[in-house]
Amino acid sequence: MEQKGKLVVISGFSGAGKGTLMKALLAAHPDRYALSVSATTRDPRPGEKDGVDYFFVTDETFDSMIQKDEFLEYAKYVSHSYGTPRSYVEENLNLGKNVILEIEIQGALKVKEKIKDAVLMFVTAPDAGTLRDRLVGRGTETPEVIAARLARACEESEGIENYDYLVVNDTVDHASALIDQLICDEQSQNTGR
Ligand code: 5GP
Repeated sequence: MEQKGKLVVISGFSGAGKGTLMKALLAAHPDRYALSVSATTRDPRPGEKDGVDYFFVTDETFDSMIQKDEFLEYAKYVSHSYGTPRSYVEENLNLGKNVILEIEIQGALKVKEKIKDAVLMFVTAPDAGTLRDRLVGRGTETPEVIAARLARACEESEGIENYDYLVVNDTVDHASALIDQLICDEQSQNTGR
């Protein structure tokens, strides 16, 4: 029987570069990984596409998805809602793919409660200055939102101990290869954690 894939949860401070890392991982191993696309009530940033980066939905649609139990988990993050549609995750795990959820900490902890052998990774920039520079350099958030996201980063840092791995995003090539190696190791150990 085909082995079920691993559920891999990636969290990290806003600006840590998780999105770029995940794109690199998927580009290098499209056959082994599937990236879950979340639903969110926030507006798209320039260049973001519906159904690719997120499913951009209204508050009403999001609430109705909650009522219909369509989310594996959902959470609020700086005044908007984000949730992981359950069906895509289950289908791809059953196909033997490793499914990546790029989600914040409250959602990560809910996933770990439900799926004990999920692997939780926390990605950080090499230092606080780099984190702020990346967030400001992106140029898509107002100063108020940047401040709120940096404050949230400080709150989230208190939950890092719940993660299985802390990955420093020094360079995209190095950090994405490290994440791949850690997932391969987890699969070969098959500890049933
Ligand atoms: P952003 O607005 O920068 O795209 O995402 C804000 C935060 O929401 C990030 O930490 C991101 O990982 C998280 N996030 C994205 N999708 C989900 C989701 O489906 N569930 C949860 N709990 N967090 C999510």
